[in-house]
Amino acid sequence: MIGSPDNATWQRAMKFAIRDSLRLCQALGIDPNELPVSESGERQFPVFVPLEFLARMKHGDPFDPLLLQVIPRSGENIVSPDFTSDPVGDNIVEMAPGLLHKYIGRVLLIVSGACAVHCRYCFRRHYPYSTAPKSIDHWLPALEYIRSDASIHEVILSGGDPLTVADPQLSQLVELLGDIPHLTRLRIHTRVPVVIPQRVDANLCAWLERSRLAKWVVLHINHAQEIDSSVVAAIHRLKATGTTVLNQSVLLRDVNDNIKTLQELCEQLVDIGVMPYYLHQLDRVDGASHFESDPILGLSLVEELAKRLPGYAVPRYVSEIAGEPNKTPVALSALSHLP
Ligand SMILES: *Cc1c(COP(=O)(O)O)cnc(C)c1O
Ligand code: SF4
Repeated sequence: MIGSPDNATWQRAMKFAIRDSLRLCQALGIDPNELPVSESGERQFPVFVPLEFLARMKHGDPFDPLLLQVIPRSGENIVSPDFTSDPVGDNIVEMAPGLLHKYIGRVLLIVSGACAVHCRYCFRRHYPYSTAPKSIDHWLPALEYIRSDASIHEVILSGGDPLTVADPQLSQLVELLGDIPHLTRLRIHTRVPVVIPQRVDANLCAWLERSRLAKWVVLHINHAQEIDSSVVAAIHRLKATGTTVLNQSVLLRDVNDNIKTLQELCEQLVDIGVMPYYLHQLDRVDGASHFESDPILGLSLVEELAKRLPGYAVPRYVSEIAGEPNKTPVALSALSHLP
């Protein structure tokens, strides 16, 4: 096991992250030819894996479900006309820098292009994202847009990952959002508490707790093996601020598209007080086709989950269809949109 000291700051964890597939394979005692690794995939979207996440992978297992999410494999070289660089059409709804207003009553604010881990199936792989904005000025037009539309009640901080932004900027942003009277809810979509749990520190908890807004955090966990005791502790710290914690997963071939893995994930989540919210059908991102599971399989898995688990432990199985006014439930009748 390769770990890092518990008291290391999250900024140090980012700094010491593994940034190439060879080192990743070496650290795990794996021959890169076993996968094999895709060099062109890696050039397009570099490897980025903090040691905290690496520590939860199994040594010597080239098919470890955490490793498969972060290592560029030859499947990334597959070219398919159905897989594009902007499958959800986000480019068309930007109302102010970083602000997407696609859904009624809620807006999505992209506060950072940076992430604490690079997931190979993510649409992010096609954007030349820079690092986090340096000052609040960057968000002023978005704040003005939100202030001028009283139908907006919820702001979703997204990215990239919003928790890669430092607390002074984030707390200032959240304070300014709290000053907008018609806002009632703040939502944060983040994978950071899972990848670098020490990010949920006293500073973060302090500004979260201070906000008058109802606070929702949506985590992104795809496999129960991602949850260790440090992640559980981070989630408990989050919940202690009065935040409701949900999880979304992506259905990923060979990672979690079997009943045993999904059931284990959902049960572990509810046992630590996190509600499984969404199970996403993969967005058809160029270079990620090897992660796609058949939606017929997905439907049967969710049906089986519903038989085995309490209703609150069963996520909604959805897909994002460009131009639709909300996430679309995957249903047999709608499969003409899908593969
Ligand atoms: C998913 C998403 C939301 C939030 O959708 P919910 O169904 O409320 O979770 C908002 N804006 C965008 C652009 C989204 O992709
Ligand atoms: S946005 Fe989320 S899914 Fe995409 S690379 Fe970042 S952490 Fe991974």
